[in-house]
Amino acid sequence: MAAKPATVRTVRALRKQVQAWRGRKQTVALVPTMGALHEGHLSLVRLAKESAKRVVVSIFVNPTQFAPHEDFDAYPREEAKDRKKLVALGVDLIYAPPAKEMYPPGFSTRVVVGGVSECLDGASRPHFFGGVATVVAKLLQQCQPDMAVFGEKDYQQIKVIERMVRDLDMPVKILGGPIVREEDGLALSSRNAYLTPEERLIAPLLNRTLTDVAADIAEGRPIEDAIGAGRQRLDHAGFAVDYVEARDARDLAPLEDGFTQAGRVFGASYLGRTRLIDNVPIPKKRKAKPKPEVTADQAR
Ligand code: AMP
Repeated sequence: MAAKPATVRTVRALRKQVQAWRGRKQTVALVPTMGALHEGHLSLVRLAKESAKRVVVSIFVNPTQFAPHEDFDAYPREEAKDRKKLVALGVDLIYAPPAKEMYPPGFSTRVVVGGVSECLDGASRPHFFGGVATVVAKLLQQCQPDMAVFGEKDYQQIKVIERMVRDLDMPVKILGGPIVREEDGLALSSRNAYLTPEERLIAPLLNRTLTDVAADIAEGRPIEDAIGAGRQRLDHAGFAVDYVEARDARDLAPLEDGFTQAGRVFGASYLGRTRLIDNVPIPKKRKAKPKPEVTADQAR
């Protein structure tokens, strides 16, 4: 009997299996990853399992979302370990195509999403979201799932994909899963493996700082002040700050003081050679409960 779940490496084999499931009216969820799986990825697999009958996990380190000076070659690749984790979770199919299956000779199309992909990581890494949108569009076409699951760790990526799916009328539902963190607050990431022991001790300060900036903004501190203080704190701790910004949680437009919509604080910083990103919601401003009147008797 073939090993379960099967690992397939061609679009043809992937489609054959997914079409068989769909023929039986079984729903299919796709969880795209670049491998080196950790609890963050696995939480998305669990969400996929709760949401669909069949779960496909793709593992593909996508060259087109890395700039030439970035870490494509160094990016961890551990397919055998990943497979064990996915077997334990009862995944139905692993799709791990080689680069030539994804980008055969002559490949020359690029999906470019405007608006939400232009700020934050899109401003710092201009190649990035074009690469992401192209590979996700291909994965959705190749697999044709009912839904695809992404993590809020890459919040802007979810917004870019939602936009693309809407703009291109792709018949797929996009689900977002919450960020999984270490106990000290550091968001799990395959890139955390690059951190030296000393950097690992400093790394959680990114999350703590963004959380404090968000709390300050919620309490009415001017956004520019709160962000300035956050940036300074990260600078002093040894981060090279790329950005700290407060944005509308829905469309990533910049937030103005006095905003009423849901907001998030986003940050990206280098610690040594490692680029860390994180984001947190801005707590809802609570109206202070009116204090009960103190009666003369109580005051006595
Ligand atoms: P990657 O392998 O880094 O491309 O990530 C694959 C998927 O896992 C993306 O949708 C990420 O947003 C998601 N992901 C990565 N880290 C986490 C995390 N700490 N918590 C939740 N989702 C995550």
